[in-house]
Amino acid sequence: METSEIRRRFLSYFEDRGHTVVPSAPLPSPDPNLLFNVAGMAQFVPYFVGQQTPPYPRATSVQKCVRTLDIEEVGKTTRHGTFFQMNGNFSFGDYFKEQAVQYAWELVTKPQSEGGYGFDESVLYASVYYEDDEAIDIWKRVAGLPDDRIVRLGMKDNFWSMGIPGPCGPCSEILIDRGPEFGADRDWEAGDRYLEFWNLVFMQNIRGEGGGKEGYPILGELPKKNIDTGLGLERVAYLLQGVDNMYEIDEIYPVIEKASELSRRKYGADHVDDVRFRVIADHVRSALMLIGDGVTPGNERGGYVLRRLLRRAVRSMRLLGYEDPSLVELLPTSLEQMKKSYPELEADFGRISQVAYAEEEAFRRTLTAGTSVFDLAVKSVKSESGATLAGAQAFQLHDTYGFPIDLTVEMAAEQGLQVDTEGFKTLMTEQRERAKADARAKKAGHADTSGYRELRESGATEFTGYQELTTDSQV
Ligand code: ATP
Ligand code: MG
Ligand code: MG
Ligand code: MG
Repeated sequence: METSEIRRRFLSYFEDRGHTVVPSAPLPSPDPNLLFNVAGMAQFVPYFVGQQTPPYPRATSVQKCVRTLDIEEVGKTTRHGTFFQMNGNFSFGDYFKEQAVQYAWELVTKPQSEGGYGFDESVLYASVYYEDDEAIDIWKRVAGLPDDRIVRLGMKDNFWSMGIPGPCGPCSEILIDRGPEFGADRDWEAGDRYLEFWNLVFMQNIRGEGGGKEGYPILGELPKKNIDTGLGLERVAYLLQGVDNMYEIDEIYPVIEKASELSRRKYGADHVDDVRFRVIADHVRSALMLIGDGVTPGNERGGYVLRRLLRRAVRSMRLLGYEDPSLVELLPTSLEQMKKSYPELEADFGRISQVAYAEEEAFRRTLTAGTSVFDLAVKSVKSESGATLAGAQAFQLHDTYGFPIDLTVEMAAEQGLQVDTEGFKTLMTEQRERAKADARAKKAGHADTSGYRELRESGATEFTGYQELTTDSQV
């Protein structure tokens, strides 16, 4: 079943059951603590926290998401993309736990000929928050699941909150056992054998102040209970398309094929190359979607993430032995797939592609020189039996050669080295302070800028990558 059809079936199933179909919110998050929307519920937060009255009691959507926290997982697990789509159904004080389980179970197990996804019930499991006896009872009664296919998990995986005082509650996930070739029996944590593809959040409590994931008090029950669910569209796609991982689905795989054609390397022949192919296909698609939603490459916040994705894709092509400009081939390939669900991308592709190609060009101009500088630095560290690349070195690579710090860290790791990122950050802060002082002096009209010319030319950059990259949350 094509991804666009899985998406269509979801929306139509819930629309038929009284849900208003709401379009995806754009990727950039309205929440200043988050770069991008990481879940379908993001645009409904004002309803869940009671700031606004929802115009409908139930809604359904397919939300575009980007999780920067998952960048390192891409291509290594079967299931993590930087960009992915989260199908969701939401109840704002309307139906609750039993109805949510019944809907999810019906859609998942209904035969494909009758509009469902037709999963084989005998390999499905449900996880519940270990104290949620009500949910256990519902999974038994409504879905007919036996005890040994209901898994009790703890706070970390199966209790949801927004990380601040407000609504919270237990979750239940639907998992599928993909068989022993994907991992050990009953190893719920690893995630690729018992693949979680739908998370149902039962928003029923209020959480208080308190630190840590498990350290907050539960203050009581919400007067109006809500439902928030997230079904990973790509995860369902790879399960229903009979492929091994999410990078091989119809919306993503053609980019792998194109990269393989260009590089004349085979996908499936070498593990290290395969991870590169998947990274390329994932990152190109994410870049397409991000630029489509107005993000442009830069050194701050979302722009930094986009820059990192594009540069990492370009560098991965080089590692596959392809040195010519590659986005001009890969981006249109991704567009061909994504325009089925997002026709607006095609109309805007002139602009989108210009932004992407210009970024590749800028990177290409300095990549060769930067790589030589990097190689020399590595050689010198190794010759002294050191294990760490100096912050100043990383700073130079960033400032003069446009290497995002994460790229330097990644390249160093490939050489078995670490990077002094604290030292790097200090230098970035100093540069920013100097640039600010310079700007103030200039404004005051008595600028002696001679010493700072170099800095201004390279642009005062605010590095926020680290804070940003650690901000993420569950559904
Ligand atoms: P995992 O444990 O596999 O990392 P999660 O628990 O972080 O997933 P949720 O926050 O519960 O995921 O999000 C709801 C659903 O969205 C998941 O059940 C999954 O189907 C999908 N999903 C989450 N993260 C990703 C991702 N990086 N790529 C693709 N799909 C994802
Ligand atoms: Mg996760
Ligand atoms: Mg999980
Ligand atoms: Mg989950």
